Amino acid sequence: MSASAAARDDLTFYDILRRLPLGRSYVLRLFLVCFVGTHVPLVAFTVTVLLGGAVPLEQSAPALITLLVATLVGTGMTLVAVRAALAPIVRSIGALRAYNTARILPDLPLRDDDEASELMATVRIVCERLEVELRRREHQASTDALTGLANRMGFFDGSVRILNAARRAGTETALVLFDIDRFKSINDTFGHPAGDAVIAAVAGIIADVAGEGAFAGRLGGEEFALLLPCTDAAAARDVAERVRAAVARLEVEACPGRAITISGGFTALDVFREPGLDGAIERADRALYAAKEGGRDRIVDAVETGRRALAAL
Ligand code: GH3
Ligand code: MG
Ligand code: MG
Repeated sequence: MSASAAARDDLTFYDILRRLPLGRSYVLRLFLVCFVGTHVPLVAFTVTVLLGGAVPLEQSAPALITLLVATLVGTGMTLVAVRAALAPIVRSIGALRAYNTARILPDLPLRDDDEASELMATVRIVCERLEVELRRREHQASTDALTGLANRMGFFDGSVRILNAARRAGTETALVLFDIDRFKSINDTFGHPAGDAVIAAVAGIIADVAGEGAFAGRLGGEEFALLLPCTDAAAARDVAERVRAAVARLEVEACPGRAITISGGFTALDVFREPGLDGAIERADRALYAAKEGGRDRIVDAVETGRRALAAL
């Protein structure tokens, strides 16, 4: 017999129970099994007395009553005990459901006394392992391997959490976009690996200068975004200028003698009016473009580019 056929045979009796019209309750199905089992002696005795006729009914009545009462009490005790003994299964189901729907990790005991303990311990261990693996893969999928910053997807996903927190706290938020100047010529002169080293070094500066609480991402190529919670436009300019100045002092071993500069555009974000980052990215990008047009190695406020665009109309 194959393993799957044996597994199906295992479920034959359960399949009969499953078809009983007792809703979705496994406990009720077990109650029914216990009820039938505990009543077998009573039924056997009653049938023997009624059909056998060996003992007159009046004489067997006390024994029958005792057996009836004992059966009822025994049934009640069995049902209570079975319900309590099923707790590991019920808790394991609840834990799996909570993890499946809300990724809440099970709080189940880690014991190995019998199959029920093993079930609870296994449910907990499997959920914990799954969670570690899921987190590792989520982190991998949202992190840029070269710089360790959030990648484009990770940045947009992570920004939702930051914007929601800013909405709750009613705090100002700012966005800065940076782009390394004349980066193509760094690649062309020193090679692609040297270009990678520059990208990694600039990313390190952005993360260091922005500090804790800020959220930096590499949007692609040599472009970076920095989301600054609890920061108004003036403070955003200050952070962006400090990044620019630190990059201007940067010396990358792989590109000896090469001055590295970046340009940036920044904008304040109205978290109550703006549902997401799209508008701010557009404004900061226009400011970044103006910084490039203006000669590079500079930071431009999106308000200035907005004003200029209006004046040009
Ligand atoms: P600008 O000052 O106007 O920004 O000029 P630029 O040369 O920096 O801009 P451009 O967009 O022309 O060049 C970006 C280059 O970045 C082109 C592309 O080959 C290179 N690049 C994109 N991704 C990577 C990467 O991961 N590593 C390296 N080394 N180069 C990359
Ligand atoms: Mg560039
Ligand atoms: Mg670019």
